[in-house]
Amino acid sequence: MARFTEAVCRLCRREGLKLYLKGPRCDSAKCAFNRRDYAPGKRSWRRGRPSDYALQLREKQKVKRYYGLGERQFRHLFARAERTRGNTGFALLSMLERRLDNIIYLAGLAVSRPAARQMITHGCVLVNGRRAKTPSQVLRNDDVVTIAEAENIQKLVGQARELSKSRTEPSWIEVTAKPPTVKVISVPAREDISVPAKEQLIVELLSK
Ligand code: SF4
Repeated sequence: MARFTEAVCRLCRREGLKLYLKGPRCDSAKCAFNRRDYAPGKRSWRRGRPSDYALQLREKQKVKRYYGLGERQFRHLFARAERTRGNTGFALLSMLERRLDNIIYLAGLAVSRPAARQMITHGCVLVNGRRAKTPSQVLRNDDVVTIAEAENIQKLVGQARELSKSRTEPSWIEVTAKPPTVKVISVPAREDISVPAKEQLIVELLSK
C-alpha cells in the first residue's frame, strides 16, 4: 500500500502540481508534494532548457492526470472541443471541469476524483433523476446530481463532506447538504477552472 501511495504521489512531484489522487491525505501534512516538490530520480527532466515540444507534452500530461483521463479519452474530448465555437483550449478545460466525476469531487461528495468515479460506476449517482452510467458525462446548466438513498452510500458521502470541509466549493455549482445534491448553475469561467494549465500549449501540441 505504501508503495502504491508513493507511486501515485510521485506523479504529483513529476507534474509539479498537487493532483489530489489520495483523498484526505492530500490535504494533510502527510502529502508528499508538500514535503518534496521536486521530480523524483537522480536526473530531473527540469534540468536544462526544455524544448517547446517538451513543454507542450508536459502540459498535456499534467491536465490529463489531474482529471484522471487516458490518452484516448483526452484526444476524444479535444476533438469535441475543436468542433465547438470559440476558443478550443478553454472549451477543453470547460468540458473537463464539468465532467460528472469532477463535479462530485468539487462538491465534496467524494474524497477524490477516483473515488467519485467509483461511486458513478457502482450506480450510486443520479443525474436529473436517472442513474448515471459514465464518469465522463459532461454536465450542463441546470443539471442536478443526487446520490442513491442506500444507507451505506449516504454514510460514505457524509464522511467525504466532513473531510472536505476545508475546501471551498466553486461558485458555478450549488451544493445542498441534505439530501446531498449538486446543481450546475452556470458554465465555469476561465478563472473558475481548478487546474492551473496553459491550455494554448495543449492546443498547439494536439493540432499538429
Ligand atoms: Fe500524494 Fe499529495 Fe499528490 Fe495527494 S496531492 S496524491 S498526497 S502528493
